[in-house]
Amino acid sequence: IEQSAYQNDKLAMLGKIAAAIAHEVRNPLTSIRGFIQLLRPHLEALGKEEYARIILTEIDRANDIIYEFLNSSKPSAPMVRKVAIDTLLREVLMLSDSEALMKGCQIHYESYEENLQVSIDMKQIKQVILNLVRNALDAISDMNEEYGGRIDVATYKEGENVVILVRDNGKGMDRQTLGRLFDPFFTTKEAGTGLGLSVSYRIIRNHGGTIRVDSTPGEGTAFKIHLPSVS
Ligand code: ADP
Repeated sequence: IEQSAYQNDKLAMLGKIAAAIAHEVRNPLTSIRGFIQLLRPHLEALGKEEYARIILTEIDRANDIIYEFLNSSKPSAPMVRKVAIDTLLREVLMLSDSEALMKGCQIHYESYEENLQVSIDMKQIKQVILNLVRNALDAISDMNEEYGGRIDVATYKEGENVVILVRDNGKGMDRQTLGRLFDPFFTTKEAGTGLGLSVSYRIIRNHGGTIRVDSTPGEGTAFKIHLPSVS
C-alpha cells in the first residue's frame, strides 16, 4: 500500500502544528510551574500542600504528553547505527510481555538467522515494533475471552533485506479499514489517536524500507517490514 503525497503533507503539517503548540504551551506551563513553586510555602501554611503537589504533578504530566506527541508526530531523520535486529526485538518484546500476559495472549518470537545486522535508528524502530505489537494486542482483546490470543514475531533474510514479521490472530480488518490504516488520525478505537501506523510508515520509509499488511476479518493480520540489511 502506497501512502499518497496528500497523506505525507498532512503528516508534515501535523509535525509543524505539534512543534508550534509544544512551544506555545510549554512557555505558560513553565511560568505556572514557577509561580506554584513560589506559592508553595503559603499553601503549606494553609495546610494545602497537597494542592501544590497535585498541580506540579499535573503540569509535569502535560509536559510529558506534549513531548510524546511531538516525538511521535515528527520523526526526525534517523540516527542510524549498525545493530543486531535480534537484540532489539528481544528488548521490545520484553516490554510487551507483561501487557500480553494480562490479556491472556502469548507472544512467540523466532529468529531464523543469527546475527542479522541492520543500520537503523534503534529508538525509532523500537517505536514501530511497539506500535505493531500494541495494535495486535488491541485486535486480540476484541475477541472473546477463551480465545487463545497469539502474536508471532519473526525475523529472517529475504534477498538483500531483513524482514520483520508481526502477525496476530486478532479480529482482522475489513477492506475499508485496510484502505485507510496508514492515514494520519484514522482510528477505529474509542481512545485511539490514529497516529501509530502513519508514524510507523514514515519511520520505515525514512530508513529506505517498506511496510506491508495482509489481513483477513475474523482471522488476523500480518505486518511485514523490509529493511535494507548490512553485511
Ligand atoms: P490507533 O491504534 O490509535 O487506532 P493506528 O494508526 O496504530 O492508530 O491504527 C489505525 C487503525 O488500524 C486502528 O484503529 C485499527 O482499526 C487498525 N489496525 C491496526 N493494526 C491492527 C491489527 N493488528 N488488527 C486489526 N486492526 C488493526
